[in-house]
Amino acid sequence: MTLEQLETFVKEHGQPKFRAGQLFQWLHARRVDSFSEMTDQPKSFLSVLEEECTIERLSVQQCQISKDGTRKYLFSLPDGNCIETVWMQYSYGNTVCVSTQVGCRMGCRFCASTQGGKVRDLTAGEIAGEIYAVMKDTGERVSHIVLMGIGEPLDNFDHVLDFLSIISSPKGVQIGMRNISLSTCGLVPKIKELAQKKLQLTLSVSLHAPINEMRSKMMPVNDAYPVEELIAACREYQAITGRRISFEYSMVRGVNDSPATAKKLADLIRGMGAHVNLIPINPVDGSPFTATDAAAVKRFQETLTKLGVNATVRRRLGTDISAACGQLRRNAKKEVTVG
Ligand code: SAH
Repeated sequence: MTLEQLETFVKEHGQPKFRAGQLFQWLHARRVDSFSEMTDQPKSFLSVLEEECTIERLSVQQCQISKDGTRKYLFSLPDGNCIETVWMQYSYGNTVCVSTQVGCRMGCRFCASTQGGKVRDLTAGEIAGEIYAVMKDTGERVSHIVLMGIGEPLDNFDHVLDFLSIISSPKGVQIGMRNISLSTCGLVPKIKELAQKKLQLTLSVSLHAPINEMRSKMMPVNDAYPVEELIAACREYQAITGRRISFEYSMVRGVNDSPATAKKLADLIRGMGAHVNLIPINPVDGSPFTATDAAAVKRFQETLTKLGVNATVRRRLGTDISAACGQLRRNAKKEVTVG
C-alpha cells in the first residue's frame, strides 16, 4: 500500500492517521519481516494486522554473478511464480532493473520475456520487494532504478504508479524520480495518461524502427499504435512534463540497421532533443533475429550524430551471465517442466 492507502486503512480501523506513517516506515525503511517487530503499535491493532494483512518478501531462487559484478536474480514470489531482477554497478551508483509483470503480453519478436505470454501483474509491493531483496543480498544502497525487466510497465499502470510513490517516498528508501527510468514498448494512451502525472522520471520508449513496416515486423504493438501516433504522444509527453524522452533502439542485422534507416530515424525525431540508446540485439532461442556487428552499430551512431541526433551505444554488463531479458526465468521454467 502507498502511504495514502495506508492512511485510509488505519482510519477504517479506527486508528489515528500517524499510524500509517509508522507502518510505512516499518515496512519500507526498516523493512521488518513480521508485524511483531513493530514495537510502537498497540497490541489490539497488531492482532488486526496479523489477521488481515501479510508482509510478503521475495526469496532468491538463483543468483548469477558476473565478472564485472553485475548480479542477475531469479526471485520466487509467494505464489510460486518467478521473476528476474538485475543489479548493476556504475560509477554514479548502483542500479536495479526491475520486472513489473510475470511474463508479458506485448509479443515483441526478439524478446524472451514475452514468449510464454503474461501470467499476471506484479503488485506495487512485489516490485518494491525486488529492490529490498537486492539491497538485503548485496548489503548496498540502490541509487537508480530502471523499469526495464520482464513485463510492460504501462500495461500494469496503477500498480507501477503506486510502486513509484512508495519507492520515492521520503519515509522509505527515497529513490528520487530523476533517478528512475521507465521503459515502454509504446502504449500511446498510457503515455498520455502518464504525462498528466507530471513525474520527473525519464521515459524510455522502445522505438527500434522509424517506419511502420519495419517496426511491425519486430513489435506487434505497432499495429495498434503506429510510429506517427507514438512520436506525437512522445512530443506531447515532453511538452507536458518538460522532460526529454530517450529512445531505445535494438539493432537487428539486416532489419533496422542500414544507413538509410539511420537517416529515416533522424528525420523522425530530429529537434526533439531526445537521446537514442543503441543496443545490439541479444540473440534469443526461437527468434530469427541476429545482432548487428559492432562496426555497423558504430556507423549507425555516427550517421545519427552527423544528422543532429544524440546517440550512444549502450555499455554491456553481465554478458557472461544470462543474456537477454527473460532468459533466466524461461530456462528455469524449462528445467521444472523437464524435471
Ligand atoms: N516492456 C518494456 C520494458 C521491458 S523490455 C519495453 O518494451 O520497453 C526493456 C528493453 O529491452 C526494451 O527496449 C526491449 O525492446 C529490449 N529488449 C527486449 N529483448 C531484447 C533483446 N533480446 N535484445 C535487445 N533488447 C531487447
